[in-house]
Parts: sequence; C-alpha cells; structure tokens
Amino acid sequence: MTSLRDEYARQESELDELYRDIILDHYRNPRHRGSLAKPAARHEGYNPLCGDEVTVELAVQDGRIIDIAQRGSGCSISQSSASMMTEAVLGQTLDEVKHLISSFTDVMRGSNDFDPDELGDLEALTGVRKFPVRVKCATLAWHTLDEALAALVENG
Ligand code: ZN
Repeated sequence: MTSLRDEYARQESELDELYRDIILDHYRNPRHRGSLAKPAARHEGYNPLCGDEVTVELAVQDGRIIDIAQRGSGCSISQSSASMMTEAVLGQTLDEVKHLISSFTDVMRGSNDFDPDELGDLEALTGVRKFPVRVKCATLAWHTLDEALAALVENG
C-alpha cells in the first residue's frame, strides 16, 4: 500500500532538478520564519487536502510591507512557497503585492502569461502544476497573505 506521504515524495522527485533544488533550499532554510512583535495583521491558513498550515504576519508602513513573518508545518511545497512568498513581497507596496498574488495564483491555475522577472524563484513552483492536488499546497501561503491583507483593511 502506498501512503499519501510516499506518493507526495514520488511527485516531488519528478520535479525538474532546478525547480526541486530551489524548493528544497527554501524548505530546509525557510526565510523570515517566526513571528513579529507587533504585527498589523495576522492570518492562519490551512489546507485540509494535505494538512498544511501556514501563519502569516505583516507589518505595514506608508502602504508598503516593511516586515513579514511566516511559520507553519506541512509538506515541502507548502512550506517552501511560504518562504519564497516572504522574500517576494517584503518591501513591496500593497498594490504590487496584490498584483503578484493574482499573477502567481493565475500561473498556478495554468496561465502561462507571466513575467519571469516578476516571479523570480517562484517560477520553481510552476513545476507543481502537473500534480493538480498539490497546487493548493503551493498557493496556501498566498491565500493566507491575501486574507492577512484583507484583515489589515478591516483593522484600519
Ligand atoms: Zn501540501
């Protein structure tokens, strides 16, 4: 009998080597992992399909993300995506971040209309698209970020 974990490991071994190396680097050395002293917004996301959890905290000043933290548990795709997400959005304006969230989620849903310069390391996650059930692993941190941004507006 093949466990889900074995199946996921097999899928990950089928990713292109370059993509796999980037994903594993972020999984093993997660960027901006932890929590913020006084976050302006926080959201906890959960992907029931895989059991992934990601918490995102933001600090914002003058319409720009000036600090961000993520933590969680789950598969390598979900955790590496959270790490990549923090690097991609730190220092960006909220408008830029919203644009990147929609570009990235469109790409993960199958769009090939993207700017490789905008995606950077995130392009590695496009390799996951051949495993549709794992797309939710890759987008979890991004949906969580989106919810944190929505909470920011509610918090004023
Ligand atoms: Zn997962």
